[in-house]
Amino acid sequence: MELEKALGLIAEVPDFPEPGVLFRDLSPLFADGPGFATVVDALAGTLSPGVELLAGVEARGFLLAAAVGYARGLGVVLIRKPGKLPSVAGRVDYALEYGTAGVELPAGVVHPGQRVGVIDDVLATGGTVAATAKLLEGAGAVVDGVSVVLELAALGGRGVLAGRRIEALQVV
Ligand code: IMP
Repeated sequence: MELEKALGLIAEVPDFPEPGVLFRDLSPLFADGPGFATVVDALAGTLSPGVELLAGVEARGFLLAAAVGYARGLGVVLIRKPGKLPSVAGRVDYALEYGTAGVELPAGVVHPGQRVGVIDDVLATGGTVAATAKLLEGAGAVVDGVSVVLELAALGGRGVLAGRRIEALQVV
């Protein structure tokens, strides 16, 4: 399937999770075999050649990172919401519009100097990816690019991540 057609499977859901927000729902894309394969291949193509490990951000980043990892012969580290991991190498909390969120890194998985590519579905304000990068760098890893399916440009994530290589299959 053509990339444009695959990306066209992403649904727009008004007023979710709250009034005034237009949520991009990737569920129809994930459920379409050829569409999913196209997007996974395209994400795999965004990785820099030096990447040694992929970091998938909970939860949709997990399935994308797993598929891209398989396609490229790379392993995956799961960047989890707090409280899920039995053994934690580090935690970074970050501000949301209302409240805070956090990300945790499993212990003993990421090694100093290792080049890690970050994968998620959507880049919005950039808070999640910025926290993920800080977490990985705190463990001594080198963040070698960020790959997402969709970037919501109006939310300014690229500015928050200034200086990092951001690859988005689609920018809206
Ligand atoms: P950020 O931290 O504001 O960049 O938000 C990115 C995180 O929120 C990612 O992990 C996304 O999965 C999720 N997210 C934000 N907006 C959307 C959306 O419109 N559709 C799907 N996920 C979203």
